[in-house]
Amino acid sequence: MYIRQDYSKYFLDIYGQVDFMPVSAKGSRMYDADGTEVIDFAAGIAVNSLGHCHPELIAALTAQAQQLWHVSNIMVNQPALEFGKLLTENSCCDKAFICNTGTEAIEAALKLARRYNLKNFGKDRHKIISFKNSFHGRTLFAVSAGGQSKYSEDYAPLPTGISHAEYNNLESIEAMIDESTAAVIIEPIQAEGGIIPANPEFLQKLRELCDKHQAILIFDEVQTGVGRTGKLFAYQHYDIEPDIICLAKALGAGFPIGAILVKDKYSSGFEIGSHGTTFGGNPLACAVATKAFSIINTPEVLDGVQQKAQLFRQHLEEINNKLDIYKEIRGKGLLIGMELNDNYAGRAKEIMQAGFKNKVATLMASPNVTRFTPSLIIPNEDIMLGCQRFLDGLLIWQ
Ligand SMILES: *Cc1c(COP(=O)(O)O)cnc(C)c1O
Repeated sequence: MYIRQDYSKYFLDIYGQVDFMPVSAKGSRMYDADGTEVIDFAAGIAVNSLGHCHPELIAALTAQAQQLWHVSNIMVNQPALEFGKLLTENSCCDKAFICNTGTEAIEAALKLARRYNLKNFGKDRHKIISFKNSFHGRTLFAVSAGGQSKYSEDYAPLPTGISHAEYNNLESIEAMIDESTAAVIIEPIQAEGGIIPANPEFLQKLRELCDKHQAILIFDEVQTGVGRTGKLFAYQHYDIEPDIICLAKALGAGFPIGAILVKDKYSSGFEIGSHGTTFGGNPLACAVATKAFSIINTPEVLDGVQQKAQLFRQHLEEINNKLDIYKEIRGKGLLIGMELNDNYAGRAKEIMQAGFKNKVATLMASPNVTRFTPSLIIPNEDIMLGCQRFLDGLLIWQ
């Protein structure tokens, strides 16, 4: 049996993990080798949207594992076709490209946007506008698009032609957008940046602004997509449609898969040979993702998200009335953020560690915000028990 400390012997130390090492999990409970049980309010990082080891996902995975795992993209396969149909029929977009991670989805969306503009308007229309404090993943293009310099500053020279406007500030982007703008990329709720939702009016005006300048509007729904906010996609809360949607995290409910969805108008941005991936669209990932998507895309699960979010809010408000640690509880659906009071500023990591010590897994989103992203079907009793453990953990820590 290996121990937590063996990690640094074999791996590049880039994560700074907690001490708890799960060996198995079921639903919203994880267990280590000693049988210690931890309630999971993190679900990976907004990934295991149907909890751990969901029986229907196990069935889909094992059935496909007996049949066909991987074929190259020289061939078409049945699970990919079924998944592509689901994605396009249930979104405002018409065509899909399947990859493996969120970063790759961002990379594909930005490349498509640049290429579409090159082919239709010439090379001067290549600029990308993103937003300060945003997070879009870790490849060089993605960290450059992201609006947090701590992720990009050590990797210069960075790709050029990217600028960052103020989030929720229309004047800021109005001053930047022009005939050289190829695309605007935005998270409808800034997740890693601290669970900051876009104002509806801001997003609606942004849509109008992109239409006026014929800029492609890309929604990074890697964290908000596939039911997390109580609707299938977060854009559906805002009464507008993006041109491209980026998805990953919950898309495979724990199996690695990502995708971009594109409106017909822009689908010519990629042609045969202009982009690709070895593993994207493999039958195993698509079979699991199809099952996950079908389960999540039901009134039962999506309405349940709203109800469970309500339950969380009640418990969290009670906890905060007792302890007075947070100044705001916010978010949408089961993407929950709690911003620390000024006298606790910068201590979200300690709180996450205090939770683990008391057998509840939570996350942070920036140094000032505690984040919960539980399974969309977390049982109500696990919400209650986990919140109790969270409170007790905070009492010990405080
Ligand atoms: C996690 C995340 C990404 C990156 O996804 P990976 O699968 O880690 O590459 C991109 N955008 C947002 C909004 C994310 O939350």
